[in-house]
Amino acid sequence: MSDIITMKISIPSDDDGFVPLRCPSCLEEFRLLVEDIEDESLIDTWCPGCGLIHVHYLTGEVEELGSKIVENLMANLLNDAMKDMEKQFRGNKFLKVKASKPIKEQAELPIGRPTEYYVVKKCENCKKEAKVTLTRNYVGGYCPHCGDMINGS
Ligand SMILES: [Zn+2]
Ligand SMILES: [Zn+2]
Repeated sequence: MSDIITMKISIPSDDDGFVPLRCPSCLEEFRLLVEDIEDESLIDTWCPGCGLIHVHYLTGEVEELGSKIVENLMANLLNDAMKDMEKQFRGNKFLKVKASKPIKEQAELPIGRPTEYYVVKKCENCKKEAKVTLTRNYVGGYCPHCGDMINGS
């Protein structure tokens, strides 16, 4: 048995295939298409709010989901270990092991709670799309893909 557990947390996207992101500097929330995020030729991502380039954009929701998955994994491991112990000591007169109530798994929260309304914005310069908040759409901002200024509408 291997002691190494590999897990892959896939990036959850909304119904239109956009992944929720948040700028670590100004906390602006926006969404980008999964294929654009995975496209290796698009290395830089501009924040539509402050116009800075960041390497990591994460939302609280994604982080929360990651930690829930890890907690559930731990609960499963502990439950299995208890069951094994129970089997191992079965019939032993001196030591009785009884598995306690299994640790319940927590619901892994669905991503994309409608906290903000988003509009799909297409950049005139690079012709790529991004979802920005209604406010950002109104006041204008930067294209996450090329950093171009986009006027408000
Ligand atoms: Zn920002
Ligand atoms: Zn652009």
